Amino acid sequence: MMEFSHMGRHLNERTGINDLMDDLYEAIYSGRPNLCQLNGGTPAALPEVAALWKQSMQRLLDSGSFDLMARTYGAPRGHAPFLKALAAYLRDRMGWPVTEENLCLTQGGQTAFFLLFNLLADDRSEKREILFPVCPEYVGYQAQALGGPRMFRGVRPRIDLLGAHEFKYGVDFDSLEIRPETAAIALSRPTNPTGNVVTDEEMARLHRAAAAASVPVVVDNAYGQPFPNISFVPCTTTWDENTVLCMSLSKIGLPGMRCGVVIARREIVDTVVNAVTVASLCPNDVGAALVEPYLLDGTLDDICARVIRPYYEGRAQFMTSLLERYLPGDLPWRIHRSEGAMFLWLWVEGLPITAQLLYERCRDRGCYVNPGHHFFFALPPEDEGWRHRHECVRLSFTRTDEELDRGIRILSEEIVRAFACR
Ligand code: PLP
Repeated sequence: MMEFSHMGRHLNERTGINDLMDDLYEAIYSGRPNLCQLNGGTPAALPEVAALWKQSMQRLLDSGSFDLMARTYGAPRGHAPFLKALAAYLRDRMGWPVTEENLCLTQGGQTAFFLLFNLLADDRSEKREILFPVCPEYVGYQAQALGGPRMFRGVRPRIDLLGAHEFKYGVDFDSLEIRPETAAIALSRPTNPTGNVVTDEEMARLHRAAAAASVPVVVDNAYGQPFPNISFVPCTTTWDENTVLCMSLSKIGLPGMRCGVVIARREIVDTVVNAVTVASLCPNDVGAALVEPYLLDGTLDDICARVIRPYYEGRAQFMTSLLERYLPGDLPWRIHRSEGAMFLWLWVEGLPITAQLLYERCRDRGCYVNPGHHFFFALPPEDEGWRHRHECVRLSFTRTDEELDRGIRILSEEIVRAFACR
């Protein structure tokens, strides 16, 4: 048996993200007919968006740029023309005081967080924890904490009930404690898994508290402004020297290009660039080169506003209508108010079986959902008994009408069966 290091052993522990990626792969490639993929975060295939990237690729091929990129190593910071255009774009569209020195590229947002969390905190430093002010959070962070089991600390949200079948999480500022060992506050906004958009007021309060404690706020903007801008409620996204904002090209239809952007003050960006250099010499520039021509001429803004955001908003409404159709109104189910991203978060209060068992029963019938407990990974052990953790599932709404319909029907039948067999 191979003896792995502490890090090797840590990475070999299976977490929610391993299950999620395995399920995703199996659903795509198993050949099983009629599978319903209500799991995963693969963006929808939107023909107009795909055509834009193909057109851009053709230009790279015709001009010889692709050839150059393919046969040479790029700059460790990332594709210079993209970074220059992006800095100008962010100054112009968002009013953020950034230059190219505040920007760098990574192999996707996923890598950006892996590096950032571990560059900011570990158990050999005074600063040893990342604080998640609203947990449930993005399951992809779960295994990223190389600095020991206490490196992530999440706080339970406030739950505001809205009408008969809706709710919204809020930041519970009474329970939010920034400690001397807190290295950073981190959150995704819009949030994966819940579709929550933490309000502008809550963000302002978090930024104030973080600045007072001299810790940065790390904002995972994978779904946010200015692109892909999959946000269905008015909101403002700010940046200052105390903010580390990460963006991604994935949700504008380029997940396979593996390109993330870190926007931060220079010392943080330079440290990320050093880490990228050590781990991979330089990031992959192809996605950045595809997007660059469409930043300043408004094409990307247009496609986000006209195609991407309306598409996901429509899917959220459609998925909501399916839940309303198939789930009996007298069962205690609620969905998190859908404010952005590409998921609905279903909470069935008093669900007689765990979300894990519900997931397994649905999976056996060909319907993949994400059991919610994985997303509560950062809560401390004393929150183990909080039932809510086992009463939620994440539902991705990027697939076809027919597939979502079948999937929600199966899910609803299994929920009804669980209550009937109580
Ligand atoms: N952050 C959030 C909130 C996500 O949902 C995802 C992917 O789904 C990522 C980060 C990772 O994105 P990327 O494809 O850029 O690595």
